[in-house]
Amino acid sequence: MTMRFTVLGSNATYPTRGQAASGYLVENGARAVLLDAGPGSVSELLNRIDIAHLEAVVISHEHADHCADVAALYFRMRYGPEALDRIPLVAPQGVFGRLETFLTYSPGGEGFREAFEDRVVEGGDSLDLISATWSFHTTDHPVPSVATRIDGLQASLTYTSDTGPDVDLMPLASGTDVLVAEATFQGNDTLGTQHLTARMAGALAAQVKPGLLILTHIRPDLNPAESVAQAAEIFGGEIRSAYPGMEINL
Ligand SMILES: [Zn+2]
Ligand SMILES: [Zn+2]
Repeated sequence: MTMRFTVLGSNATYPTRGQAASGYLVENGARAVLLDAGPGSVSELLNRIDIAHLEAVVISHEHADHCADVAALYFRMRYGPEALDRIPLVAPQGVFGRLETFLTYSPGGEGFREAFEDRVVEGGDSLDLISATWSFHTTDHPVPSVATRIDGLQASLTYTSDTGPDVDLMPLASGTDVLVAEATFQGNDTLGTQHLTARMAGALAAQVKPGLLILTHIRPDLNPAESVAQAAEIFGGEIRSAYPGMEINL
């Protein structure tokens, strides 16, 4: 058995040609979990797995660039050719209300709960999915948002979700092998938003000391190589930028 993390999409905010917004596939053999479902990510997911093998969806927070494709997945699960069991939708508070409003299209209808069952998580929670432990930590963001750590068979990976710098993620990320950190901006300014610059992602990695830092959620108008260079001013370890199809064994 191999466990694998695959980038489906890593764009901040919006998709571009061939590049979906945030979405990641985690597989243990044939068993699969979708981590975030940004616009375009579900099409990438369906390029890679049999939908019947999807056991859960984990959503980091309610911003549309991380959860809008739950709608696409809902329609595929509900109206596709095969009968599919309901699966857990694991997310912090806020996600469910957004999706309920968006996907309840007939009065009294159940909407997305026909395909998904709510599993609310907050910082400090952990649970088992596809025989791996998933743990969560609240991040610095304008809405409830959770960073996620996956302890796999060979390695652990921590994904920061969207976050500003004003949170201590060490209780979650300490000792993690792979740190997937958002790096929305370059330079020294997050323009008043609760996000990270590449240097801030590098500073987080300098604390966590992962074997590999992967920068993700980079603004599509920025050059990822420059983001890597700026993070490398702070963190001396291996750094790469995320791209669709990137695979990490866990
Ligand atoms: Zn985002
Ligand atoms: Zn966000």
